[in-house]
Amino acid sequence: MDFSGRKVLITGGSRGIGRACAIAFAERGARVAVNYRANADAAEATRDELSGGPHVALQADVADPEEAQRLVAAAVQSLGGLDILVNNAGIWVDHALEEVDYSEWQDAWNRVLRTNLVGPANVCYCAARHMIASGGGKIVNVSSRGSFRGEPDGPAYGASKAGLNSMSQSLAKRLAPHNITVGVVAPGFVDTEMAARYLDIPEQATEIRAQSPFNRVARPEEVAAAVLFLASDGAEFSTGAIIDVNGASYLRT
Ligand code: NAP
Repeated sequence: MDFSGRKVLITGGSRGIGRACAIAFAERGARVAVNYRANADAAEATRDELSGGPHVALQADVADPEEAQRLVAAAVQSLGGLDILVNNAGIWVDHALEEVDYSEWQDAWNRVLRTNLVGPANVCYCAARHMIASGGGKIVNVSSRGSFRGEPDGPAYGASKAGLNSMSQSLAKRLAPHNITVGVVAPGFVDTEMAARYLDIPEQATEIRAQSPFNRVARPEEVAAAVLFLASDGAEFSTGAIIDVNGASYLRT
C-alpha cells in the first residue's frame, strides 16, 4: 500500500492504536496530523518518531464540537489538505448499572457518547465537507467488538460503538457519490493503555487471552493494518464494511 503524499488526520493518534496507524501511514509516505486530547508529550514523541513528513501534533478534544471543527481546519491548513480521516479517539468508562448512582450513570452516558459517537460525527462532518470540495477522500472509524457482543460493565461504550457502526454505514451511502468512502474497524482486546486495566490483572489477562484461539490479544499494528486497507486505493468497494480484528474471539455472520 502506497500513501505517498496523502494527508492523514488521526484522532487520538498519540498512543495505542492511533499511534500504530500514524507510524504505518508515515512508513508508506503519508503526512500525518497526530491529534491528542491532553498528553502533549506523548503526541510530540509520536510525531517525532514518524518517518518522512513533515508531520504535526494537534491538540483538540473531539468531544467538543468547536474543538472538532478547529481540529479539522488546523489539519487542512498544516498538511495542505486532507485525504484520509481516522476517527480513532475513544474512551471507556466503567458504569455497571448496580454499582453507580443515577448521576454517575448520566455522566458516563454523556461523556462516552460525546467522545465516541457525537465527536466522530462532528469530525466526519467537517472533514467530509472539505473532501467534497476537494474531490473525495477516505474515512475509517475505529469501533469495537463490544458493539456486537454487549458491554455489561460499560453499556454506553457498547452503544456508542454500535452507533458509530450505523453512522458509518449511513455516511458510506451518503458520501459515495462524492467519491468518499467510509469504513469501520472493530477490534477485540488490543494491547494498549485502554486495555491495561484488565490485562494488568493476571487472572483476567489469562481469561481475556483465552477468548481468542490464538490465546493472545491483538497488537496495535494488527488493527492499523485493517485501517490502512480501508484507506487504500483499490478498497473503495468495501465502503460500509466493518472489519473485525478480534482473533476469532467473537464471530458473527
Ligand atoms: P488509548 O490507548 O486509551 O489511547 C486513546 C487515545 O485517544 C489517546 O491518544 C488520547 O489522547 C486520545 N483521546 C481520548 N479522548 C480524546 C478526546 N476526547 N479527544 C481527542 N483525543 C482523545 O486507546 P486505544 O486502546 O488505542 O483505543 C483506540 C480506539 O480503539 C478507541 O476508539 C477504542 O474505543 C478502540 N478500541 C480499543 C480496544 C482495546 O482493547 N484497546 C478494543 C476495541 C476498540 P490523550 O492521551 O492526550 O488523552
